[in-house]
Amino acid sequence: MFDNSVKAYTQACEVIPGGVDSPVRAFKSVGGTPPFIARGEGAYMYDVDGNKYLDFVQSWGPLIFGHCDKDIETAVMKTVKNGLSFGAPTELETLLAKEIVEMFDHIDKVRFVSSGTEAVMSAIRLARGVTGKDDILKFEGCYHGHSDSLLVQAGSGLATFGTPSSPGVPADLTKHTLLCEYNNIENLKKCFEDSDDISCIIIEPVAGNMGLVPASQEFLQACRELCDANGALLIYDEVMTGFRVSLTGASGILDAQADIITFGKVIGAGMPVGAFASSKKIMDHLSPDGTVYQAGTLSGNPVAMSAGLTSLRKLKANPSIYNELSDKTLRLVNGFKRVANENNIPLQVNARGSMFGFFFCEEEPTNIKEVAKCDFDRFAKFHHEMLKKGFYFACSQYEAGFMSTVVTNEEIDACISAASDVMKDF
Ligand SMILES: *Cc1c(COP(=O)(O)O)cnc(C)c1O
Repeated sequence: MFDNSVKAYTQACEVIPGGVDSPVRAFKSVGGTPPFIARGEGAYMYDVDGNKYLDFVQSWGPLIFGHCDKDIETAVMKTVKNGLSFGAPTELETLLAKEIVEMFDHIDKVRFVSSGTEAVMSAIRLARGVTGKDDILKFEGCYHGHSDSLLVQAGSGLATFGTPSSPGVPADLTKHTLLCEYNNIENLKKCFEDSDDISCIIIEPVAGNMGLVPASQEFLQACRELCDANGALLIYDEVMTGFRVSLTGASGILDAQADIITFGKVIGAGMPVGAFASSKKIMDHLSPDGTVYQAGTLSGNPVAMSAGLTSLRKLKANPSIYNELSDKTLRLVNGFKRVANENNIPLQVNARGSMFGFFFCEEEPTNIKEVAKCDFDRFAKFHHEMLKKGFYFACSQYEAGFMSTVVTNEEIDACISAASDVMKDF
């Protein structure tokens, strides 16, 4: 049933490291061969063996309207006909920036890039440039792309300063990255005692890269207050949550607000787009107005802009989408919880807007150490059995799930019923 995918994977492995262009796609944490995808349509993906999957990954978040949304497709095709890239300004960039600026009270200007990694990397440079400080503070379990200074893990002993989590990253670069436990206010305060050179805190306000683990309101408030008291900037990395958790992302459901927000994923609707945004005062430090350098040959690419613009306008014009998405997401995770209970299987479920997570463990995790204690074997089994039944979930307990507007309640109920069958055999 996966013969063609196995063949495609073998061939890919000969010419591409691990057969994939981003490690998580290789299914290493659940084992087995990743299905190679031939095409998508609406809520479904079809692999090269003709298997059909109800897609809860959606390219890891961007496809809030599912695959091949007609409006986005039409806009992209129309733009393509006028040329793919110019390396000169186009009005589409202004239009997309305007949509974003209008949504947020505290955002005046936006700069577009081509990925979430680039957005975060640039936002951090900006924070360092504005404050004149070198250290950055990040949290264990939050992912901010693969730039050098963010690939850190906890150092040995009590050191707050991170050590590289990948060969190829010089320790000299990560020594400016302080690492702190998520949702731990005491730990956070200690970091500010250890360093008087902190330029910014970067955080996923609703973390989606250790499963779904939201930060508490008190924790984010503490982040805000410590930044203010120490002349540091607060960066919300909303690459995953932006336009997803609500129209205004996690910022829209939280009290504490950030100085800089980074975007990615939904902002490009499946095309490579990232962005970072802030007040005029902060953004004016950016080249060419200011001295903080940042650039990109394909930044603000017109085809990508037209996809993002169409998607954001659709979301803005139909605010009820978010309630519907949230209802559907809750229907799914509550259904999972119910069938887990019926089968005496400890399962924790979580949802924020159209993002969800589920953990095979006794108590809801609040940080990465607690997530690491979950039953990964059970997760792997669940993943595989659901895949065989035609339900495509993220292939790791460290990843979040995503609901799209095109999934129906009937499909969700079928998914819950499949989960029930799988859990009966655990
Ligand atoms: C996906 C993600 C990134 C990285 O974005 P890329 O487009 O993969 O470079 C950064 N931060 C968060 C929170 C993400 O989820």
